[in-house]
Amino acid sequence: MDRLTSITQKSDIFSKYQNTPIGLLLEYHNLDRSLSENYNTAQLLIGMCMDNRKHLHIPDNFAYIIRTGGANLRYSEFKVSYAIAVGGVEHIALIGHNNCGMVSLADRKEIFIEGLIERAGWDKDRAEEHFLQFAPMFEIGNEIEFVLSEARRLRTKYPKITIAPMLYNVDDNKLSLINED
Ligand SMILES: [Zn+2]
Repeated sequence: MDRLTSITQKSDIFSKYQNTPIGLLLEYHNLDRSLSENYNTAQLLIGMCMDNRKHLHIPDNFAYIIRTGGANLRYSEFKVSYAIAVGGVEHIALIGHNNCGMVSLADRKEIFIEGLIERAGWDKDRAEEHFLQFAPMFEIGNEIEFVLSEARRLRTKYPKITIAPMLYNVDDNKLSLINED
């Protein structure tokens, strides 16, 4: 089953996103639409992972961006509300990516604890407790499933906002739309 729709021409963008800030994001990033357009206000909110392998090709002032582990916005809701209420955005692009470090966090427990001990000067008990307390909150399971579940959750919370789940491929740096049907 193909969960992703590649965007290599404008007609690949789902019709519900055509001529919206979501469609524009895909045109700027994937289709080399000129970045010379001027924006005085943000057109959308982008939620994406903190991972260093990702860089979006978008004009200045185009978007609010919240970066968190796994594009998880559960602990950033005040900022989401602010972008909508004060910033005036009506669209959210939720961008997960392949090879995300927030998948299978339990497999990195030892390296996480050892890294905090060696580089931050923590003792082992404190580092272990920290991992056990927070890893379940930040584990995302599967990149695509997680972004879909976040999109559904946010649509319930903000029913008038358009929310588009996407995946960033860190191998070719392109965005794809996630199929929801
Ligand atoms: Zn990630």
